[in-house]
Amino acid sequence: MSHGVENNGISRRRFLSISLAAVGGVVALRPRWSAAQDENKEGSQAEGARSAGQVTRWAFLSDTHIAGDPEDNYRGFYPSRNLQKTFAQIAADLPEGLVVTGDIARLTGQMEDYENFRKLLIPLVGRRPIYLALGNHDNRVNFLDVFENPAGRKQAVKGKHIVTVDAGPVRFILLDSLFSTNETMGLLGKAQRTWLQQYLQTSDDKPVILFFHHSLRDDDGDLQDLPRLFDIIKPVTKVKAIVYGHSHEYGFSDLEGIHLINLPAVAFAFGNDQPIGWVEARLGRAEGEFVLHAIGGNTDQDGRARQLRWRS
Ligand SMILES: [Zn+2]
Repeated sequence: MSHGVENNGISRRRFLSISLAAVGGVVALRPRWSAAQDENKEGSQAEGARSAGQVTRWAFLSDTHIAGDPEDNYRGFYPSRNLQKTFAQIAADLPEGLVVTGDIARLTGQMEDYENFRKLLIPLVGRRPIYLALGNHDNRVNFLDVFENPAGRKQAVKGKHIVTVDAGPVRFILLDSLFSTNETMGLLGKAQRTWLQQYLQTSDDKPVILFFHHSLRDDDGDLQDLPRLFDIIKPVTKVKAIVYGHSHEYGFSDLEGIHLINLPAVAFAFGNDQPIGWVEARLGRAEGEFVLHAIGGNTDQDGRARQLRWRS
């Protein structure tokens, strides 16, 4: 995002006050499958439950802002080093896969940005799928040139990179909110919204998690067609959560019962109160658990878990 947008005021505070109330009510809950998982490590009969796909573990990342130059830095943060550290942590205890919610590239989506990202990805290549969504600092043409065949089932909406993923107990839909490279605002657009509406009508009843880049406040740099998106997803109760980035601020909130999960940036923080890092998610049919892995910035919340129950 541009540097102006993080200084928003009232709308964000209002949003967060709702969210804190919502999160406060569920933090203490321990998902039913957590206990089963712990037993699983000791080889108990929980193995059966897990292999039946009741819980799936993922790494969620955002705003990697990788430049062609590995030494590129901002505010004392080195995005390439941070991504290297993140991928090393993920490789040490492999989840089912990874999702990156955009701003893969530093500013304008240069070919060499994506080439460097691909180099950094080598420890994970061929081991786990990595699903990539595009942000306002990405360039769709260059991205698709470097990642000729990105992971996931591609959906045909002209000029948009949309991917769906069957992730066991849940389904992911990665949308494309890139409107114009290096302009801050985001837009899904009518064709993509229409596609989503139709897709949700025909897909099965698995819980759906939406992923895209842009944040969901009411500023000029946010997702501009958020109200229209909510008109579509609010009545579709299988849509449980939206995971996004853009703000470089880690936080949980809630709108119309749909959980909004704002991932921290991997690359750099704008504010000293913010962590950089990634989020480990354990997802089931009724709930999800989200653990922050803070690798820099404010690490006070490192390791902290949040439990969210899905709406029904
Ligand atoms: Zn952004």
